[in-house]
Amino acid sequence: MSLKKKFLATVTAAALSISLTFGTPATVEAASAIDLIGTGIAIGVQASQLNAQLNQKIKYYDTTEEGRQELYDSFRQKYGVNNDPNYNAQLDRVMANLTKGVAAIDPTINSKPYLYFVSNQNTINAACSMGHVMMVNAGTFKKITNEDEIAAIVGHEMGHGQRNHVAKGNKKHLQKAVTAQIAGTAIGASVGGGALTSIITQVALNHSVAHGDRKHETEADLLGFEYMTHTNYNPGACAAVMQRFVDMEIGSKQSGAMAFFNPSDHPDSAKRRDAYVKKLYEYSRNHVTAKNAVITVNNKTFIKVAASSDMSAAERSYFVLGNLASAYHSGQNTYAATVQNGTVMLGNQPIIAPLEGDEDAQTIADRLNAIK
Ligand SMILES: [Zn+2]
Repeated sequence: MSLKKKFLATVTAAALSISLTFGTPATVEAASAIDLIGTGIAIGVQASQLNAQLNQKIKYYDTTEEGRQELYDSFRQKYGVNNDPNYNAQLDRVMANLTKGVAAIDPTINSKPYLYFVSNQNTINAACSMGHVMMVNAGTFKKITNEDEIAAIVGHEMGHGQRNHVAKGNKKHLQKAVTAQIAGTAIGASVGGGALTSIITQVALNHSVAHGDRKHETEADLLGFEYMTHTNYNPGACAAVMQRFVDMEIGSKQSGAMAFFNPSDHPDSAKRRDAYVKKLYEYSRNHVTAKNAVITVNNKTFIKVAASSDMSAAERSYFVLGNLASAYHSGQNTYAATVQNGTVMLGNQPIIAPLEGDEDAQTIADRLNAIK
């Protein structure tokens, strides 16, 4: 690879970092950049010149309505738009609910509402780019039928969006690439401003690659949890969806063919699940936790949750945990546990509707009263 090609490929890889929750095909689409070599652009640009232009471009996509729309349109073109009415209705609902949840914590969302769509991709994935441009793959809706879990995924993406991780990541990665390249290339002609802008525009519009850093991922996970607690969604869904990935061997080390879902920029699903369980414990004011489908209340074993037709026992247990955490958070634990229409309640908070394999509702309610 010539220095020119190497340089352009590096710029391409760095120029548009969209952060994907659950991985992306990390193909480096160097083709568009290499095509530009054919136009005779010579590389010898000063780092400061490139940085200034890149920053300008990022600002355009991130903060202007025109730029946001351009980015949105290019994503729709690149990934395809899925028009399934159920998927779209579900995403509309999730976005409306979460937008309120975000606004309760971070009102800046009101001046930059998300531009979102269901992309025509079959993998479980979602992405948030600059300018609050967001997409959720059709495959996500196909394989995750629980809306609370979809909200957990989208909440994570909105965490990236609200903290501007993509724009920040771009600058950092590109500046690094440019500095290294300039240092290693003493010779070279100069690139005109217009040509440089067209390179940056081209790669920004055509290329996406996941390379968020760990700090950003952890921050997005924590923010997503906060947003969820300001909606009516079950905050246990964040841990539950991670358990679902563990059960599907997504984001686990040994996943082999599924390694696609395990990019290095996302900590593995079991670790993320455990971090969410810790958040639920804190949210419950240190009263409830769960491990391997067993729920513990005040350090005493409460119940072992059974699997449902669609969820492993562990995945389902995190919904029960989320309900309990909500009850403790809002003070419903000061009221008695009762059974109403087959559902165990703590105060006015539903806790669990027993299924085959669970103990009966009254037994569960009695035990909760004894240990709560
Ligand atoms: Zn992420």
